[in-house]
Amino acid sequence: MSYRKILKELRKTFPQPVSDKIHDSYFVHSIMSALNQVDDLKTRLPFLGDIVPADFDVAKTTELPECMSTVEEVTTELVGYLRGMTIFGHPRTQQNVIGPTTIPSLIGVLLASLHNPNMGWDEYSRLVAYAEVETVGITSQLVGYNPEHSGGVFTFGGTGTTLYGVKIGLEKACPETIKKGTPEDVVVFVSDTAHYCATNITGWLGIGTDNLITIPTTVENEIDLGKLEESIREVLKDGKKIAAIIATMGTTDAFGLDDLRQIVAMRDTFVEEFELDYKPHIHADAVIGWAWSVFKDYDFEENPLEFRPRTIRALAGACRRIQHLQLADSIGIDFHKTGFTPYISSLILVKNQGDLDMLKRSPEQMPYLYHYGQYRPGMYTLETSRSGTGPLAALANLRLFGQEGLRAILGHIVEMTQLLREHLGGHEGTTVLNSANYGTVTLFRAYPIGVDTFEIKKQEFEDASYRESLLVHNEYNRDVFQYVNTEAMEGRGVFISTTDCYRHTTYGEPIVALKSYILSPFVDEGDVKQVVEKVLEAREKIGEIVNTDENE
Ligand SMILES: *Cc1c(COP(=O)(O)O)cnc(C)c1O
Repeated sequence: MSYRKILKELRKTFPQPVSDKIHDSYFVHSIMSALNQVDDLKTRLPFLGDIVPADFDVAKTTELPECMSTVEEVTTELVGYLRGMTIFGHPRTQQNVIGPTTIPSLIGVLLASLHNPNMGWDEYSRLVAYAEVETVGITSQLVGYNPEHSGGVFTFGGTGTTLYGVKIGLEKACPETIKKGTPEDVVVFVSDTAHYCATNITGWLGIGTDNLITIPTTVENEIDLGKLEESIREVLKDGKKIAAIIATMGTTDAFGLDDLRQIVAMRDTFVEEFELDYKPHIHADAVIGWAWSVFKDYDFEENPLEFRPRTIRALAGACRRIQHLQLADSIGIDFHKTGFTPYISSLILVKNQGDLDMLKRSPEQMPYLYHYGQYRPGMYTLETSRSGTGPLAALANLRLFGQEGLRAILGHIVEMTQLLREHLGGHEGTTVLNSANYGTVTLFRAYPIGVDTFEIKKQEFEDASYRESLLVHNEYNRDVFQYVNTEAMEGRGVFISTTDCYRHTTYGEPIVALKSYILSPFVDEGDVKQVVEKVLEAREKIGEIVNTDENE
């Protein structure tokens, strides 16, 4: 067959470069057909279709087909890959910090993908670049940065935002490392409940994971300020440099919030005391916590949105720390976590645009780019090609929600979380572990019937003579998790998750916990009650199994 015949077919598979209404409706129809097929996979259960086991070795043997397929065929095949996917917006999904996505943010992704702006340069992205700058402006003001001085770019995830923060700090502490390489005597500080991306980043930046200093946390999952101070002093006395102090503003597992204000004050005192010729960079990993900024000037007394008193307390509790975000030198923000956009939509914000400029390459290294135009982030971004999907999705949701919408949606999921805790607290068999953390994640433990939960929690966490008991109950909680999720698979109850190590005990053993992460606006009181009911039911069932074992 002449290639020309194939080409004719091929051209129909692209959106048309010149207006063609008939073809447009074919395009829309194709999308609609995909959506209809996805809809057919929906049942009452919190996942699409059936959970099908996959043989990844077989996947490896897949080959390129010889001939073309049609748009319809490919669509149906692609939809098939969604089988078994968790529906993260389902009211009975409370698994992790993965949120459902709004229609405008999906349209943002579609539009950016449709015309493929490359965000390196406004020459290739025009007003989509403008949208990125608008988003930087909105977010700067939200967290309290002065937009006249601040700057920011979207990057490849929350991990990317921390990478930027540490890289900037490294360049400040050890000028010209971009040119000369990383010296050995430089460290990064982070808490022991922070995200593991800090390990990746120190590894990949050549700082070395041995130079990542992990500071213990208090029982509130906040960095221990006394220990941080001790450790910084030691490092400075040894003549080492500090590339960055990472303050976690919302830990992944427990929503612990570091005391950023104190960390900044401590940094400033050390700069004076040791007469440092640089200011150790403070990066706020607020990829989860940033969204709470909308409550900074909420009138908690008047409470116009009519949240319950417990919710008010939780929102104010988080705000107490989040309101100081503007003290950080840089901030990481994930719209794909608490901003309800699709992956990837992550923004690194810097208080001073000059910090990003430090990462610039010289124009001679990029001879074919950036001759004109007003917006050229490609001169300092790690990425070369950079997608417009993140900025358009983020801007879509910021516009859609406004302050009011973000308050309502966050307030609701915090309210549901507080309700869950209230119910968990109302039973002798269950106990909440992170009750001092006011996010939407709840870590809790269940204990067998007959165990005094008031005493045991403290004993197991602080007294090494309870090691056996802790380990037995770690296993017990794994069993409870299995039971609850097996039931959820059958359409009874709610999907939750578990963590192998909520924290370590004072004597170094990991504490296993059950975990509910509420991120769906569809969750309501009934769904929350079901979690508790299922856990209590598991207690009865597991209790029975243990008893019959003993009888035999
Ligand atoms: C999720 C998370 C990260 C990593 O972000 P990605 O977007 O998954 O790369 C970093 N820090 C914290 C606190 C997180 O919760």
